[in-house]
Amino acid sequence: MGLMDNKFVIVTGAASARGLGKATAQLFAEQGATVAILDLDAAAAEAAAADLGEGHRGLACDVTDKAACEAAARDLEGEWGRIDVLVNNAGITQPLKFMEIAPENYEAVLDVNLRGTLYMSQAVVPGMRARKYGSIVNLSSVSAQRGGGIFGGPHYSAAKAGVLGLTKAMARELAPDNVRVNAICPGFIATDITAGKLTPEMHEQILADIPMGRAGAASDVAGCALFLGSDLSAYCTGTEVDVNGGSLI
Ligand code: NAD
Repeated sequence: MGLMDNKFVIVTGAASARGLGKATAQLFAEQGATVAILDLDAAAAEAAAADLGEGHRGLACDVTDKAACEAAARDLEGEWGRIDVLVNNAGITQPLKFMEIAPENYEAVLDVNLRGTLYMSQAVVPGMRARKYGSIVNLSSVSAQRGGGIFGGPHYSAAKAGVLGLTKAMARELAPDNVRVNAICPGFIATDITAGKLTPEMHEQILADIPMGRAGAASDVAGCALFLGSDLSAYCTGTEVDVNGGSLI
């Protein structure tokens, strides 16, 4: 018996091997869920889904494309009959200073992190509402709370702060239909988004600022996503959960 038996789950941006999305998809699958991995490249998404075991799906879906989000949701709902959980994990960052942000930088970062969260959620919410059951988990960041980090620019902070506002507004509107919406704010987690972008000095500086004295692991975030996606959190909506080793204490 798994916590997610007979549940159907979408995780966006989950093809990256060391990423938070892949670890989250893996944990949901281990707990009995049927999972769809959505990412930019079909072959990468299919390979990541195959890693989860039999019966999972991998689909190409650019979350900044509203029609693509709707097509993916239609396809999966057609096959599964329902979507119970959506984890809006797809995200990009750029290590730019305030004055370095060009219009195309702003658009790209806002598009994937914020617009993608809106579009993918809009694609699954009608079905969740009709069935009076659903949980949406949005990936924000400590960068939204602290006003930036070492590798996320101000536009990334703005996008992830937007995700928090969107989360709370969605939670308020969808609560009467038992569709819950919560956010996770990871701190410094070792994944491809951070790999190769830090000098040893920057790494030391970041760790010195974390009371637990270590970077987070993808599994630390996955555990939180499982809690928020499952009925363990049945009375939680509109919350933001920090997974940051104490960075905000
Ligand atoms: P990652 O770079 O390892 O993975 C991101 C995935 O998103 C990739 O597989 C990429 O192909 C996919 N993606 C990018 N644009 C997309 C699009 N338009 N449509 C669909 N998929 C797309 O990143 P990660 O470190 O695993 O981060 C996952 C989430 O957590 C992101 O939203 C990130 O902003 C957030 N986050 C990460 C950290 C950290 O320290 N790693 C901290 C705070 C928040």
